[in-house]
Amino acid sequence: MTIWHIITSTLIISLAVFLNSCTKEESDLTSEDEELAEPVSDSEEKICTELYYRATDRAFGSKQAFWNKKVLKVRFLGGGAYVQSKIKEYANEWSQHANINFQFVTREPSDIRISFDRNSGSWSYVGQSNRFIGTSRATMNFGWFTDRTSDTEFRRTTLHEFGHAIGLSHEHQHPEASIQWNREAVYSYYQRTQDWSRRDVDANIFQRYNASSSNFSAYDPSSIMHYYIPRSLVLGPWSAPWNSALSTIDKQFIASIYPKSGDEPPSEELSCACTASITGIACDNFEDLTSATFPQTDDWKPWSTNGNMGELQTYSWGKVLKIQHQDINNPDVVYAPATLNDGTYELSWDQYIGPNSSAYFNIQKGVEIGQEFGAQFYFDTESSGQVKINQQVIDFNYTQNQWLKMALILDFENNQVNFSIEDRLVGSFPNRWSAQSSDGTNQFTMLNFYAIDADTRFWLDNFCLSRSASEASIAQSKLRSDGFGTFRN
Ligand SMILES: [Zn+2]
Repeated sequence: MTIWHIITSTLIISLAVFLNSCTKEESDLTSEDEELAEPVSDSEEKICTELYYRATDRAFGSKQAFWNKKVLKVRFLGGGAYVQSKIKEYANEWSQHANINFQFVTREPSDIRISFDRNSGSWSYVGQSNRFIGTSRATMNFGWFTDRTSDTEFRRTTLHEFGHAIGLSHEHQHPEASIQWNREAVYSYYQRTQDWSRRDVDANIFQRYNASSSNFSAYDPSSIMHYYIPRSLVLGPWSAPWNSALSTIDKQFIASIYPKSGDEPPSEELSCACTASITGIACDNFEDLTSATFPQTDDWKPWSTNGNMGELQTYSWGKVLKIQHQDINNPDVVYAPATLNDGTYELSWDQYIGPNSSAYFNIQKGVEIGQEFGAQFYFDTESSGQVKINQQVIDFNYTQNQWLKMALILDFENNQVNFSIEDRLVGSFPNRWSAQSSDGTNQFTMLNFYAIDADTRFWLDNFCLSRSASEASIAQSKLRSDGFGTFRN
């Protein structure tokens, strides 16, 4: 029994499954083709299979294939740390171009489950077909990845299989594909390499997807979803190369399917009015910096060992710091303008949280990680938030999709912190409180911004630390308070 028969017989038992397969056999490559081929592998034959749960799901870029959510949870059912890290690295290339993100989890629930069965090639269910697969079963398989696999091959096959997982079909069956097949050569080739019948070849090679039920862009032989096609299978001087990167059309198409609405912050309406700054910088707004020179001073530095600094972005209207979750080198950065423990200060900044995104920061009271931290500020994806301090909680609402002025009044004389959003007091609590107890230090050292979950994506700008007009500022904030969740000493 061939590999192909094993796959087919297994699937037929339980499902009405339709298969496509992309195939490579080294011996069929001409010398010219070999220049386009991937580096030599220890595998003679590589098979990629595209799976659908129901016949009706089988359409090129079917509108039903695409997910209605933007975070897909992915669980490995095996594989070594190195191979897993490569899959994470290259899968995330899709997320750079579309509002679809992969969150790698170690337990259920999951949307995608990856096995490493060396006997069944590489394959994946397409888009929402994944939803119908039992949670104990793989939805994607990498059959030939090892610690010796080249980066080109990791990238090519990972992008291709994750392309299936987010709803893409094989490009060679595009409704507008106009490949001039040498049909008898194709029948012969797949009969020899895959033991396919003529009917199998018709279904998996020649048949094109129905334009009326499909969602597609222009036919694109350079798509990561296109088969490698040797010249011997077509009439005329044409072949399709081994594509190992996303094509321009791949990027544009997936961005249109999963648009990054709200992914860029709007130009700021808030000015950086920072008077009486004590940091020597009138306004810490990144304007004099580039991604190459940031951070320029100790004001900004990475926090946890593997944390990165976020992304300094340049727009036509100014520069901002973006904090977005990523699986490797997740942003974890501190703003450390000064150690404060007497007098009264106002620390303010602008913060933008896009639609359906989350944000997080906390107050640090020490100079080393884990020493002592104070209040934690959570902004969830549903426009509500919580301040957590001394095991107590202050609930609040906030507005997404616009710049908000955040402000902390740090009053060390009266041992009090006031937190406000857009000049409206959210809550007050004793500055001495720490995250878990009332017995902490009446001190401030830094703000820690951290991408706390897969939905985290927010922007920061215009940091200002100034001596507060003290009683006046506090009194004004109190006037605007709704009184809820306000703690006194
Ligand atoms: Zn495929």
